[in-house]
Amino acid sequence: MITHRLAYRRYALPLRAPLRTAHGLWTVREGLLLRAESSDGRVGYGEAAPIRGFGRETVDVDETLLQALGDTVDDAWLERVPVEWGALRQALGTALGTTPTVAARREHLPVAALLPAGIEALKRIEPLAESGFRTFKWKVGVGDAADEIALLDDLLARMPEGGKLRLDANGAWDRRIAERWLARCADYPIEHVEQPIAADDRKATDLLLGLAGDYPTPIALDESLVGEGDLERWLGAGWPGVFVVKPSLLGDPVSALARLQSARARVVFSSALETAIGAQQALRMAFSWAGEGEAAAGGGRVRALGFGVWPLFADARFDGPALAPFIRRQDGDRVDAEALWNALT
Ligand code: MG
Repeated sequence: MITHRLAYRRYALPLRAPLRTAHGLWTVREGLLLRAESSDGRVGYGEAAPIRGFGRETVDVDETLLQALGDTVDDAWLERVPVEWGALRQALGTALGTTPTVAARREHLPVAALLPAGIEALKRIEPLAESGFRTFKWKVGVGDAADEIALLDDLLARMPEGGKLRLDANGAWDRRIAERWLARCADYPIEHVEQPIAADDRKATDLLLGLAGDYPTPIALDESLVGEGDLERWLGAGWPGVFVVKPSLLGDPVSALARLQSARARVVFSSALETAIGAQQALRMAFSWAGEGEAAAGGGRVRALGFGVWPLFADARFDGPALAPFIRRQDGDRVDAEALWNALT
């Protein structure tokens, strides 16, 4: 049996600029890089970067587990990590090489550009459109709903021909506000509305299914999807909307994507604000996706990636591919994991 010498390094990387999220203001991204050297000489790297607010997994929990399990491991050892700790399982599968390699189906994929909350979005959309972006994501639920709804017309007036707008409420709305927004969105080219209701709302499942049935604009689940358990639950409930999938949080991303594919789910791949090591693996999953429509031929549609996050870190060495309207497959693959590992000493 192959054994591995496993080491990890915890990082706390300052962000280039503070990031306002529904889960507070982020100034530092914490996570773990893993390095596994197997008895047959193979070296692999992985990254565990759980996100606060997505389930119960934290960097502390992951580190405690790694310490408890020791530094010499075999492939079966992965089974001792609880399914709930998806980010750590994913990182181990990548580092140990137990995650099957997936074939890329494309050479490049479109990327969605992030628009800042509020009126700032009006200034940003035109230069981004000029540089080639066609899908935009606007953070909403930050200011007063009436003010934000009033800005929607102005924002759409600045959209390029064929452009699409995503709204991301990060669970900030209640039912009444969500209904107001969705009624308004029905008349516009809104690709989807992401997480209108908080995932931990007691009635979230019923509310989200109700909204999805009552309005024509698709609703996307983001915070409501933490790991495979949530994916199964929503697939079982017949979720008619979009699934925002962060491959870095899925313990077994290859199986999860196969499951989504066979359910003909609508999927948006998204960053978990990980470093280039985690992003490399997450992007491989996105490039392996068969897409929607003519999926059998491997030529189906792939929605714009939620990977428009870089530059993200103050230390640019940890960034993934630079922000551009498309990510090329080679750009995702061109990561010197060893150099990043060494940069943490
Ligand atoms: Mg989101």
